[in-house]
Amino acid sequence: MTRALYPGTFDPIHNGHIDIAERASAIFAEVVFAVYDAPPKKLLFNTEERLALARSALAHLTNVTVTTYTGLTVEYARQNAADVIVRGLRNIADFQSEHQIGGANHHLASEVELCCFFCHGEYAYLSSTILKEVASLGGDTTLWAPDAVQLALRDKFNLSETNLSSRSVPRRRSKLAHRG
Ligand code: ADP
Repeated sequence: MTRALYPGTFDPIHNGHIDIAERASAIFAEVVFAVYDAPPKKLLFNTEERLALARSALAHLTNVTVTTYTGLTVEYARQNAADVIVRGLRNIADFQSEHQIGGANHHLASEVELCCFFCHGEYAYLSSTILKEVASLGGDTTLWAPDAVQLALRDKFNLSETNLSSRSVPRRRSKLAHRG
């Protein structure tokens, strides 16, 4: 019985992450979806919020449990008796990063395998960063994240729940908006 750990920041979870979780849950007996507690980057959602959004987005997957962790991912894999770490690959940059982290993890815990899933084409450009940026500017994110995540984003950015696209929002410095 193979148990997999799918770790990440998930700030917030989006459809690309959900797709990988669904595909992993179809292959592995159990999947631990692990939200990293304190990554060295600025977050929009705190740990409890990221956990709650992930739990609601993955509730349909009965063999997936959502948890949080801190410290080394391989140590958390060992604590959970996970045989495999699951990651998603969108592009060469992801490949290079996973190759490097995977090498270090193999050095630290050679019994834990790395299993990378190529993401499906429609999610190849999607990241939590892009999702947050488009949401902050009032763009349409309906194909990128579940309703609960979109509502949480609107709440964070003080946007109304309807007519997002036509609403005028405060100017932010963004690669997706004109710079003045
Ligand atoms: P990180 O774990 O690097 O902080 P994320 O939490 O965004 O970043 O991503 C968690 C995992 O999900 C990583 O393996 C990442 O490559 C993968 N992932 C991110 N975006 C997508 C996507 N659009 N499609 C499939 N997998 C993705």
